[in-house]
Amino acid sequence: MPRTISILLLAVLSLTAQEFKRSQDETLGNEMAEEIRVLIIDGQNNHGWAGTTKAMKATLEATRRFSVTVSTSPGKKGTKEQWAAWRPAFKDHQVVVGNYNGQPWPDAVNNAYLAFVADGGGAVNVHAANNSFTNWKEWNKLIALGWRGPKFGDRVTVNDKTGAQIRTLKGKGPGAGHGRQHVFLVTVRAKEHPIMKGLPTWWKHAKDELYHGQRGPGQDMQILSSAWSDPKSGGTGDHEPITWVVPHGKGNVVTTVLGHHWGGQKDFDALHCVGFQTILARACEWAATGKVTIQVPKGFPTDKATSISAPGEISW
Ligand code: ZN
Repeated sequence: MPRTISILLLAVLSLTAQEFKRSQDETLGNEMAEEIRVLIIDGQNNHGWAGTTKAMKATLEATRRFSVTVSTSPGKKGTKEQWAAWRPAFKDHQVVVGNYNGQPWPDAVNNAYLAFVADGGGAVNVHAANNSFTNWKEWNKLIALGWRGPKFGDRVTVNDKTGAQIRTLKGKGPGAGHGRQHVFLVTVRAKEHPIMKGLPTWWKHAKDELYHGQRGPGQDMQILSSAWSDPKSGGTGDHEPITWVVPHGKGNVVTTVLGHHWGGQKDFDALHCVGFQTILARACEWAATGKVTIQVPKGFPTDKATSISAPGEISW
């Protein structure tokens, strides 16, 4: 075949392939919308923050709905100059994922974060992110409940039968903790919330820490899911909140206590749970846009079986 013809043929074929891809995307309802800009904040955490960021970035990118940037704070030995130079570009993004549990941020960063959310930006805080910033009053409002002692504030659990919130006052009952890592059943409490819509009411989460006794102002929170904390695993015997949302100005803050991963831990069960990945992706989309277009993937866990997949193996 003459060279020019084969080049032309190639061009036509590749155009056709693109057309096919596009029409397939339209059929699937993935209108090729602009990617949602996500900023993950890490740099300090008693957990394996580098591995956690890597896993979450891979999950978000695998959905083809997000472009992900990471801003890593100075470490514990960061100099004054390094902290003065660290200014995450919240405003260039639509949603900020918190994977940070460490020393307080500079006031300028705190203020920029609050302004970002108040102006309509989304925030999604994962696992130990709610352990941080005990003395930052506004932060405690945004997360509603954090890893704090019993005297810090109220505790909120869920009545399994009615789904109603149960408030335990400051000073009474257990403070923050968790039992042994184990597989546990998550109960969806807000079935019509866009993040939860279409999920099975009960699904088995892969081995993780089940946080209990979280404390804080606990105001304006909508609990999207909970899990029964089994005393046999060192839990409380109560239905502890797992994922919840709190509005702030024009923005929304999603907190999920799922997603434990130690530095050096070999498995990624909690982060590679298809349930966790679905919640993460949908929470980011919802917090950024107010809508969820990401479908529940095939292979989502059931009430009988966990489901663990590396991010690239899930077809979204
Ligand atoms: Zn943990």
